[in-house]
Amino acid sequence: MDLYEYQAKHLFDMHGVPLVPGEVCTTPDAAKVAANKIGTTVVVKAQVKTGGRGKAGGVKLAVDPDEAYKKASAILGMDIKGHTVRKVLVTEACDIAEEYYVSFLLDRAERSFLAMASVEGGMDIEEVAATKPEALAKVRVDALEGVTEAKAVEIFEAARFPADLKDQVVAVLQQLWRVMVEEDATLVEVNPLVKTPDGRVIALDGKVTLDDNAHYRHASHADLVDQSTTDPLELRAQEFDLNYVKLSGEVGVIGNGAGLVMSTLDVVAYAGEEFGGVRPANFLDIGGGASAQVMANGLDIVLNDPEVKAVLVNVFGGITACDAVADGIVQAMEMLAARGEHVTKPIVCRIDGNNAAEGRRILDEAEHDVIELVETMDDAARRIAELAAAAK
Ligand code: GDP
Ligand code: MN
Repeated sequence: MDLYEYQAKHLFDMHGVPLVPGEVCTTPDAAKVAANKIGTTVVVKAQVKTGGRGKAGGVKLAVDPDEAYKKASAILGMDIKGHTVRKVLVTEACDIAEEYYVSFLLDRAERSFLAMASVEGGMDIEEVAATKPEALAKVRVDALEGVTEAKAVEIFEAARFPADLKDQVVAVLQQLWRVMVEEDATLVEVNPLVKTPDGRVIALDGKVTLDDNAHYRHASHADLVDQSTTDPLELRAQEFDLNYVKLSGEVGVIGNGAGLVMSTLDVVAYAGEEFGGVRPANFLDIGGGASAQVMANGLDIVLNDPEVKAVLVNVFGGITACDAVADGIVQAMEMLAARGEHVTKPIVCRIDGNNAAEGRRILDEAEHDVIELVETMDDAARRIAELAAAAK
């Protein structure tokens, strides 16, 4: 999960990284109040999860609260590379003598961490890397050793920072590394890290990507999820702990195992071409050992998608055999009925694998008028495309 600048800076602050004070605002009035409180010239900064905000006009100086109001009015609602600005960060403006670049990232190819640093920060670091690679120092960081003082000095020297900044830069590097490790980030980047005319080192921008796989270790990170830009069905699926991704088509898809679900999306899209371009509406993997409860939750999510016209359940009985899966589907239908959700959308089931015959018998005997059994995956995909097209 990528964080907004203000969220990244909040984590920086907790780990002692030097910053200028600021406040996040959603209205021009709030920006005016914040500027008044800060009491100096301020910078009004668009909060969007993309770089190059400065170039796009999303970072503006304001000399007084009234100007902060005006700048916030102009920036809020702005579109920056397809991201609508809903929040601005109002910070104390900082006098800048020099702009540097520092980052830590997970280098997957090298199976290690990498520190990058440059005294030519501020602008596009990709450009520095492309046109002046010698100006971008790259230092490998051992995962177990981390950024010790000696390692921080190595980075400091590799990037040729001014000697008088040694203590400050070395400290900042170690603080940022602590953000990386203690918050379970895969990227921590500061561009620009600035030197002020009076010789202080301050992080003026911040970019952090958190490792979603470590989410469970950080109760506080749940607050960082931006509900306003997350699909409501995906949020609901998260509550159910389901692996769900919303797509744009009409065929709801439920399967067990990510590989099977992905191939199901492919065959549905392929079959759908014959029926006016019917496409899958979602990815939903209910996992290997799915219970009736999980199947009910999955059907609940998919059937509640207004764009879904028909649902394909494609299950391969393995650890959970087909009879258990079929029982799950039957019970899921009962659970939905008990919740007052009357299912009218057609559901095509293809179940194969362990105890397939028994599974099909259970579904046959349940005689649900919306459920149809189809033997093969290709036939099931064709049938579901046909049903979805008919309901469009
Ligand atoms: P980005 O363009 O999305 O990376 O946004 P930044 O936060 O890095 O801001 C872009 C540029 O605006 C920086 O490189 C600075 O040159 C400038 N800037 C940002 N904050 C300040 C500030 O407090 N004072 C001054 N003078 N310039 C700033
Ligand atoms: Mn920046």
